[in-house]
Amino acid sequence: MELPFAESWKIKMVEPIKKSTREEREQWMKEAHYNLFNLKADQVYIDCLTDSGTGAMSDRQWAAMMMGDESYAGSSSFFRLKEVITRLTGFEYVIPTHQGRAAENVLFSHLVKNGDIVPGNSHFDTTKGHIESRKAFAIDCTVDEAKDTQLEVPFKGNVDVKKLEKVLAENAEKVPFVIVTVTNNTAGGQPVSMQNLREVKAVAEKYGKRVIFDSARFVENAYFIKTREEGYADKSIKEIVKEMYQYADGMTMSAKKDGIVNMGGFIATHHEDWFEGAKRFCIPFEGYLTYGGMNGRDMDALAVGLDENTELDNIETRVKQVQYLAAKLDEYGIPYQRPVGGHAIFVDADRVLTNVPKEEFPAQTLAIELYLEAGVRGCEIGYILADRDPVTRENRFGGLDLLRLCIARRVYTNNHMDVIAAALKNVYDRRNEIKHGVRITWETELMRHFTVHLERIED
Ligand SMILES: *Cc1c(COP(=O)(O)O)cnc(C)c1O
Repeated sequence: MELPFAESWKIKMVEPIKKSTREEREQWMKEAHYNLFNLKADQVYIDCLTDSGTGAMSDRQWAAMMMGDESYAGSSSFFRLKEVITRLTGFEYVIPTHQGRAAENVLFSHLVKNGDIVPGNSHFDTTKGHIESRKAFAIDCTVDEAKDTQLEVPFKGNVDVKKLEKVLAENAEKVPFVIVTVTNNTAGGQPVSMQNLREVKAVAEKYGKRVIFDSARFVENAYFIKTREEGYADKSIKEIVKEMYQYADGMTMSAKKDGIVNMGGFIATHHEDWFEGAKRFCIPFEGYLTYGGMNGRDMDALAVGLDENTELDNIETRVKQVQYLAAKLDEYGIPYQRPVGGHAIFVDADRVLTNVPKEEFPAQTLAIELYLEAGVRGCEIGYILADRDPVTRENRFGGLDLLRLCIARRVYTNNHMDVIAAALKNVYDRRNEIKHGVRITWETELMRHFTVHLERIED
């Protein structure tokens, strides 16, 4: 008999989690104004709100923290971190920052100015924020396939090279760089192929432009290249990562994802001019160059995290757990963004709660129902998150309305995945009885999803 797949780690320390009754959850949800961000973490049984900063560090990472050097300048922790980043990516210049958006803030302060155009594949919201706040424009050149949740293609995160070339041909002088997000988070954790990275680099070079990888989930991306792209099956994850970065000029990184630390980030590049430019903003915004926004001990934990997550055993365990949950949803016929990506499941709420009108926010309603069912916390990536149109102030119902269930790294077991799937199935089985959703009673102008107040609409 073939042995089944199992986790590449065993558990050394545990954190108890609490179950609750439906009655308690009804009360808590009401007190939270039906916004799951307002729940206290101990009111949640299984937390799938995000995979950012929620991973479990290894014994080696905790051990490395004891070696942290908190020197203000020239910390040996920094040099250990830099050595790993350079070994993995080839980039020799490294600036630590307190998280991914800080890396964007520092580098973009040097590179992006009023009126610029930054093409890419579904810019992450903070990335877009750091472009738009400088009165520049983020142009989405993602392949059209990404919009169809049921279409099974291996690299749904790709850049449409024709769209990119059009932007470059028409506006080359306004483009400071091209940005490629690996994996493409906004499109559902979908990977970008090596072939696509190569083509993007070639087109950018043709117009004399450099390429940045927004790299939060670069290891998951490498894993998909290994398992889905011809010619990579026998290559190690580290070899694939090294090749990926041959097609980039620099990277911004949220280490809270594939760095498996709870806080941290960095910029890396092989261009001295970018390094010199970014340095000028690192010091006032983040801190001195050899710690940026990070503690010495945290840089050590990150150095180890990057090294161990780029080993096949670790990343395979991670992605296979997400795929395990997806297979359960397949069994129950629950529609989600296909094929499942690297870090989360995106349930297509519009296709589940067909009786709930768009105006009553189906994905948020599904998130509330799932929480009430079993204490599982997901996150609406849909009409509430989309905010209102800045001009008409109407809600934007043009995009997808998804319930995102993120899986934290090395935190839950497949038994927890079974609970998530069963809870979702129970809600799915009574989907036709759910006729009403929620209405907004209080909201902010921008990024309203974090703080919005809602109430349930009754018959
Ligand atoms: C999380 C993330 C960021 C921002 O990083 P933070 O650490 O949350 O500031 C940027 N880009 C992508 C693709 C991300 O997933």
